[in-house]
Amino acid sequence: MAVLEIVRIPVLSDNYVWLVHDPESFETMVVDPAVADPVLAEADARGWPITAIWNTHWHPDHTGGNADIKAKTGCEIIAPAAERERIPTADRLVSGGDQVRLGAHVADVWDVPAHTAGHIAYHFADDSAIFVGDTLFAMGCGRLFEGTAEQMFANMQRLGTLGDATRVYCAHEYTLSNARFAVTVDPDNAALTARLAEVEAARAAGEATVPTTIGAERATNPFLRAPSAAELGRIRALKDAA
Ligand code: ZN
Ligand code: FE
Repeated sequence: MAVLEIVRIPVLSDNYVWLVHDPESFETMVVDPAVADPVLAEADARGWPITAIWNTHWHPDHTGGNADIKAKTGCEIIAPAAERERIPTADRLVSGGDQVRLGAHVADVWDVPAHTAGHIAYHFADDSAIFVGDTLFAMGCGRLFEGTAEQMFANMQRLGTLGDATRVYCAHEYTLSNARFAVTVDPDNAALTARLAEVEAARAAGEATVPTTIGAERATNPFLRAPSAAELGRIRALKDAA
């Protein structure tokens, strides 16, 4: 099986759209297109025909490009079943336990409610990659707009079952702000302090800091490391107020 080619497209102020190409089947999908034009341009420049859009949740900065990309490419839009009313462009609705394919590459759909009620993630186990939308960020987690700390804790526990090398493709460049907050709740974590310095240097140089890995998050992410839902909820509330 050929290795997936995964391209990061920065759009809006801090969103990342992921363009994912299987060189064997030539199928190409887009995760969470906030907008259409930069995505169409990138796919065009590479000679990759967009065959699908995979949405993780309904927020406009994840679905705003759906209609235009579909109109221009005829691609199929896969979206969370629980958010069907909010993603009217969806062609195929999926939920936890379903599988989605890009060529021969299989992704398992995970239900990860909390940021939104129907949020899903796409895990390519054989590729050691997971597309998490706004659930897990580098040293952070998504805000609890439509769910509870208990739900987000369960999501973190499940993500924590993945191997250290698993690459985590999240949808925002929130890393520096997350790192600065994380050191305030976990000041004695040397790995975290070192990572903050790395991230400050990377951002000062204009570099992206994602994808991250489960191993890096296991060592430094206070939400993934939280020992209980109550503790996750406590630090999430602190971050919201920061
Ligand atoms: Zn969101
Ligand atoms: Fe978002």
